[in-house]
Amino acid sequence: MASSRNGSVTTNGSSLSNGHSKQDKTATESSMLPHLLTNVIFPSTLVFLGPTFLMWIWYSVVFHNGSYYDFFSTAAKSDNAVGYLLSVWSKVSFGSFLSLSIIGGYMIFQLMLTFLVPGKRVEGPMTPTGHVPVYKDNGFSIYIITMISFVLLTTYLKLYTPYSPSIVYDEFGSLLANMNTFAWLFCVLLYVKGIVAPSSKDCGTSGNPVFDYYWGTELYPRILGVDVKVFTNCRFGCTVWALLPCCFAMKAYELHGFDASINSFVSVAILVVYLTKFFWWEAGYMCTIDIILDRAGFYICWGCLCFIPGLYASFSFYLVSHPIALSYPLAFAIVAAGLTCIAVNYDADWQRQHVRATDGQTTIWGKKPEVIRAKYRTSQGEEKSSLLLVSGFWGLARHFHYLPELGLALCWSIPCGFDHILPYTYLIFLTLLLIHRTHRDDLKCSDKYGIYWRQYKSKVPYKIIPYIF
Ligand code: NDP
Repeated sequence: MASSRNGSVTTNGSSLSNGHSKQDKTATESSMLPHLLTNVIFPSTLVFLGPTFLMWIWYSVVFHNGSYYDFFSTAAKSDNAVGYLLSVWSKVSFGSFLSLSIIGGYMIFQLMLTFLVPGKRVEGPMTPTGHVPVYKDNGFSIYIITMISFVLLTTYLKLYTPYSPSIVYDEFGSLLANMNTFAWLFCVLLYVKGIVAPSSKDCGTSGNPVFDYYWGTELYPRILGVDVKVFTNCRFGCTVWALLPCCFAMKAYELHGFDASINSFVSVAILVVYLTKFFWWEAGYMCTIDIILDRAGFYICWGCLCFIPGLYASFSFYLVSHPIALSYPLAFAIVAAGLTCIAVNYDADWQRQHVRATDGQTTIWGKKPEVIRAKYRTSQGEEKSSLLLVSGFWGLARHFHYLPELGLALCWSIPCGFDHILPYTYLIFLTLLLIHRTHRDDLKCSDKYGIYWRQYKSKVPYKIIPYIF
């Protein structure tokens, strides 16, 4: 997940502990409008409209055949358009025993695994206040246990009971509404906790409660020994992103049979491989900007608890009512294209890590890699150095690996056909997110590496697509 936070704030790690003075400086230095946009208007819009937007996606699929156009034009034609748009909330059952049991049962299961499954100790990057976050690297094991448990539960339910995991599809509106409510309240708890009982020194307020609620008051909160971001981002967000499409594919299978709904299985196959790769690399994720820059506030926590299930998985929800009997060769071709994108993306991540781990004493694409030995200073004033790879994928563009990331999102969306834009919402969102992320990362790296980053940029001038962007 990326941030819309003002770049000058995010790229300076020290702002994590003194957000107030930084805010004031931003306000006086720049005009009021950008300040209002990034610190008040965007945060409050996301907090109040974000959850409703997710309900619109659900509602459009269930009641408008997956068409935003149909949904919004019906609203526009109604006597009370705003009432119609907000009425989506009244179509679901809050506090339904079934959805609360599914959410509660899943969370308790993940919490148990968090404590019980062993993993080696890994450390994240040191924060500006000198705090080193420590993790138990058990994400991949937990993911595998969860997926195996899902298969076993499905087998049991199908063989011995009249139930099926496809009930998640039927209950999805209610699940989404309850998760949104939970996330709103949970973020209040995080907001207060960061002020009265922070887990580390990486905390503080900006003086603007709206912004603080949205952005968070703490970088690495822990509750009863559980790392909040690991739980919301990985144990909930990314794991549910794998499980939901499996439940939806089961529903498609029950309604239409395998051949008629093969498009669901094509999408799910690509997604599950992608997420398996994600969990294999989970310790690496703990060093990305989602974790080291984004605080645990509404933006990241609601994003992982609700936005991932509601938007990232929306293509598979749409597929249930839009089956397409793809030919087997076409189905295999789409899966093969998706897997190729995953392999390229993985290889690019690997090249960077491998070159650093071997201090450049290796080969990339058959040759000794060109590297820049970039010096930087930690916030404690200590001088350190790091390698910037200028060969392989990192010599083509500074974020070439975002291209296969987008390619694979296209691969799991294409099986939805081209009737409606809704199943491409994730692809559109991801394109914007990654373009914005290149900007954020550029700010972060030029702040960290200065002249060395400018040197890298002069050698590799393109952000994502060589010679184009
Ligand atoms: P990146 O993989 O783009 O890594 C950026 C960091 O790598 C920089 O901050 C810098 O960190 C280091 N770096 C930059 N240039 C070089 C270089 N030439 N050589 C060596 N190191 C360099 O981070 P992301 O978090 O954006 O992406 C991680 C993965 O997550 C990717 O596979 C991406 O596709 C995926 N992703 C998926 C998203 C989704 O929602 N589906 C969203 C965003 C990312 P340092 O301080 O260590 O130097």
